[in-house]
Amino acid sequence: MTTACRCGHPEAAHEHYRPGTDCGACGREACPHFRPAAARRRWAVRPGDVVTLLAAAAWYARVSAAAARARRRARRQLWSPDA
Ligand SMILES: [Zn+2]
Ligand SMILES: [Zn+2]
Repeated sequence: MTTACRCGHPEAAHEHYRPGTDCGACGREACPHFRPAAARRRWAVRPGDVVTLLAAAAWYARVSAAAARARRRARRQLWSPDA
């Protein structure tokens, strides 16, 4: 995952062989140093976290649906053993 700066350029654009952390594309006036776009709020959810959360939710939905199916099947067999 690449971290973007608030100026719109990736973190790599702010790394130079000369001293300084300003943006190599914007220049020192527009972007004097790298400012992570996602770090403005400490509790902000990163895109990677959302993907993990969605994957976990999808997995849970699949597992609980399979469990419900198994429960229904077991109950049916209990009620009519010779069916
Ligand atoms: Zn920048
Ligand atoms: Zn820039």
